[in-house]
Amino acid sequence: MRIEEELKLDYSDVLFRPKRSTLSSRKDVDLKRTYKFKYSKNEWSGIPVMAANMDGVGELEVAETLSDFGMITCLTKQHDVSKLKKYKKLKSIYKNISLSIGIKKEDYERLDKTLKEFSFIKFICVDVANGYSEHFTSFIKSVRDKYPTKTIIAGNVVTADMTQELVLSGADIVKVGIGPGSVCTTRIQTGVGYPQLSAVIECADAAHGLGAHIIADGGCTCPGDVAKGFGGGADFVMLGGMFAGHDEGGGKVTKTNGSKYIEFYGSSSETANKKHYGGLSNYRSSEGRSVKIKYRGKIKDTILNILGGVRSSCTYVGAPSLKQLSKCTTFVRVSNQYNDTFSK
Ligand code: 5GP
Repeated sequence: MRIEEELKLDYSDVLFRPKRSTLSSRKDVDLKRTYKFKYSKNEWSGIPVMAANMDGVGELEVAETLSDFGMITCLTKQHDVSKLKKYKKLKSIYKNISLSIGIKKEDYERLDKTLKEFSFIKFICVDVANGYSEHFTSFIKSVRDKYPTKTIIAGNVVTADMTQELVLSGADIVKVGIGPGSVCTTRIQTGVGYPQLSAVIECADAAHGLGAHIIADGGCTCPGDVAKGFGGGADFVMLGGMFAGHDEGGGKVTKTNGSKYIEFYGSSSETANKKHYGGLSNYRSSEGRSVKIKYRGKIKDTILNILGGVRSSCTYVGAPSLKQLSKCTTFVRVSNQYNDTFSK
């Protein structure tokens, strides 16, 4: 047994230190980024905030609005040929969507069929809860061999060594985060995890050294956290809970005591397993929870609020664009993040 003594940090452990700035208005902050991906060589431009491939979030209607802002949606694994065929506007949003698959044989076959039909889709997200298995790495290698021009997202991991391994196996973008998610119970069920900000800082460094990119996936609770993800070096920040509860997610709205709620659940929760796979296998436990969240109306308003926050973070630290945010970032460690007297 070994204990790593070095302190690791979550978003809530830090704040941005304000710096003298020449920016006069947050309006002037440019949030657009352009990336060229390591293997696919595809170029993408947009605002690098992503919707997670979770039910009620990784949906086509969500993608439609996010794409208007130049943001990417990772569609849920349930988006197969028949579902995509029913959606008539696919060609107008294809640059900003990603397919998602697991690492089962059926996933591979579904991907093959989907890409035969919709060869213009550019992103493939190979998504497993634990990206540390050899089987996962070899799966990424085979997807890379088969689809040399697709941009491959692979995850999730939280350490530099495995980020490098995934990049060297063919991933253009590594998805970072184990346990920080709003409906994730991995840390409770298994005791496994890594404080998200440190994971982002360390994995970004590893990926950038190899010319690859990372996504800070999970753990954002407010616009300030999204900015901290970028400040820590993330190329993209992925949101589940913050994008849940909106009209576009298609969830069932229920009313309790006059307030409206929408169900939201983790991709490996019992609810998700029952819905998509007929229940949980005996050898597995659920690592996600199911919650009712307040109905939040149109996703556009939430997006504007998040982007307004990130723009403002940039002005506070003197970054004229999102690209410069990380360079301009000094985090101060804090023991109290904000005054929550009236938010309880
Ligand atoms: P959030 O933005 O809600 O904090 O985190 C979203 C991320 O949580 C997703 O992108 C995914 O990586 C992770 N996630 C989603 N569902 C589950 C689940 O059931 N269990 C675990 N461990 N993580 C989940």
